[in-house]
Amino acid sequence: MSKRDYYEILGISKSASADEIKKAYRKQAIKYHPDKNPGDKEAEEKFKEAAEAYEVLSDPNKKARYDQYGHAGMGGSGGFGGGGGMNMEDIFSHFGDIFGGGFGGGFGGGFGQQQRGPRRMKGSDLRIRVKLNLEEMMNGTTKKVKVKRFKQAPGTTFKTCPTCNGSGVQIRVTNTFLGQMQTQTTCGTCQGIGKVADHIPPGANNQGLNKIEETVEIKIPAGVREGIQLQVAGKGNDAPFDGIAGDLLVLIDEEPHAELKRDGNNLHYDLYISIPDAILGSSKEVPAVNNKVRIKIDKGTQSGKVLRLKGQGLPSLNGHGNGDLFIHINVWTPDKLTKEQEAFFEKIKDDENFSPHPQKDDKSFFDRVKEMFS
Ligand SMILES: [Zn+2]
Repeated sequence: MSKRDYYEILGISKSASADEIKKAYRKQAIKYHPDKNPGDKEAEEKFKEAAEAYEVLSDPNKKARYDQYGHAGMGGSGGFGGGGGMNMEDIFSHFGDIFGGGFGGGFGGGFGQQQRGPRRMKGSDLRIRVKLNLEEMMNGTTKKVKVKRFKQAPGTTFKTCPTCNGSGVQIRVTNTFLGQMQTQTTCGTCQGIGKVADHIPPGANNQGLNKIEETVEIKIPAGVREGIQLQVAGKGNDAPFDGIAGDLLVLIDEEPHAELKRDGNNLHYDLYISIPDAILGSSKEVPAVNNKVRIKIDKGTQSGKVLRLKGQGLPSLNGHGNGDLFIHINVWTPDKLTKEQEAFFEKIKDDENFSPHPQKDDKSFFDRVKEMFS
């Protein structure tokens, strides 16, 4: 669809002054104003078209670009996307001043509200922290917590607001240069809700709410971690006047494990083995989250070797498999020896087999760290 020339829309020449542009837009806006043309789609389109033309021609930068390149220069010109995408609320919020005398604002507000009807209040959210250990984060769990929240008192009843008859708005007739205009404002009696309290039981506050302590069950999925926030819908404060209850926001606190260190979904464990085990080979039990795992220590295992147990880490929250458990092997060097032990090591210390000769695949500490985090 080809767009009409902005000057043509406003009925002005290219040499029109800023003041003339404003006057011309005002004329069009009055002519096609939705209040003057209720239900007239064509008038609404013309009204929007004029607003778009004014949006460009009233801005010296946009006007210069339009003068040089026409509509082609307006692509992605911000604000309204240049595609005729202005909506009524944009128009009133941007050019409300054009209509003068406080009319624009009142009208704009009323216009939007007309379509929304009475508003519903939302209760405020509540926040709690829940401490979880590694097993709970690995497997998921259910926690029962006590929450102090506002709850609608039993026996509270509401009736339709007598001032606005439940519409939430009050209609005022004012005289403007467009003639008699209806403006809508939020109902002062019910604050736009359309309801007022009819009966409030003793003990409840004037909104019909009681502060109570409630036990809330929180389902915690496997794979959560420190800092994650879960949302329990509707377990925040109840809203006044039958509105929408707020949410309970649950912040996860992680309890550190005595032996396993967590890094994302991976776990790390430091295993210390003796010199004879490193030399002769052995078999060791290491802790995983839910069980113990037996691992084999090869003959001639170097200190710093890392074993990777696939899938023994934590699950990912979105169900894309588990992390791994890394076993970091450290060879323990004793600092106390008997005379006989000292003599034994004295005897073998110059033996060729005990002098270090690292192989190519005995990766250095830095290479291994690099590999692990890549
Ligand atoms: Zn009301």
